[in-house]
Amino acid sequence: MSNAKTPVTVIGLGPMGSAMAGAYLNAGHPVTVWNRTASRAEPLVERGAKLAATPAEAVTASGLVILSLTDYAAMYAILDGVGDALAGRTIVNISSDSPGKTREAGAWLADRGARLLTGGIMVPYMMVGTEQSYVFYSGATEVMDEHRDTLAVIGRPDYRGTDLGLAQLWYQAQLNLFLTMLSSFAQSAAMLESAGVKAAELVPYATETLNLAGFFLEPSAQGIDSGDHGDQGANVTMMGATADHVVTASEEAGIDLTLPRAIQAHYRSAIERGHGRDSWTSLSEVIRKP
Ligand code: NDP
Repeated sequence: MSNAKTPVTVIGLGPMGSAMAGAYLNAGHPVTVWNRTASRAEPLVERGAKLAATPAEAVTASGLVILSLTDYAAMYAILDGVGDALAGRTIVNISSDSPGKTREAGAWLADRGARLLTGGIMVPYMMVGTEQSYVFYSGATEVMDEHRDTLAVIGRPDYRGTDLGLAQLWYQAQLNLFLTMLSSFAQSAAMLESAGVKAAELVPYATETLNLAGFFLEPSAQGIDSGDHGDQGANVTMMGATADHVVTASEEAGIDLTLPRAIQAHYRSAIERGHGRDSWTSLSEVIRKP
């Protein structure tokens, strides 16, 4: 049987799991699905997926079982009752959770004779199966190698190493950047809204600032990795004063202060620890050792 026809089971049919099952149907794989709320499977069944009656039936249908759930607790809720069906299966859990939770899941599945590969998908559901789509994976190399081609259907596999926690560590590190960016965009929009400016007007300026941030990353990484925080023209005192001004501007706009106060706290801690004349990268020292 060619890899293109490897049977795949997808458990969890939210927007992400449905998009994954859809990508496998498009690629001609036999697809079995199961979801707690069975009605969410209907569009996929119309396209040729087989709806398993129980989680045990879903797990038994394919050697490769992909989970797309809210968190790892949902995995236990679904798989705890499947009995011996897990033995010999490969579970690829592409659900969000902490690295520690994914390592615990590896031990739990190993006790039941199953192998776990953990994943974190780095694109929104509507981009699954496109060229932009990529997925962080971690777990045993042989499991990755065995399923690499089949997993490539949903996005480019980016294997991070054997430690099961690595995929989620990378995923959450990226999501930290993403979520902070979204919150800061909402904060900036609220600041401007106090002067009657629409968020749409901010978009091209915000895009330019985010592109500029990319320019800072490489020299910043050098400082963070080496611990050499020599002033490169953006020292903690100057940047910290600006962080204070963002708080005051938000205060004057009458909006929430949680995010700007968190940033301000980083700069204040760095100044307290004597980094006032160092590069802003010395914030990494405050973050590493709170
Ligand atoms: P949803 O929250 O829409 O779907 C979650 C799925 O988990 C549903 O199938 C739901 O079942 C199931 N579920 C949750 N709790 C339980 C439980 N206790 N028992 C059984 N089933 C349960 O999420 P998405 O599809 O959007 O996301 C799935 C994963 O993909 C998440 O980890 C998310 O972080 C990640 N992700 C999502 C992206 C996106 O664009 N949506 C982008 C990148 C990552 P039911 O239908 O019955 O509620």
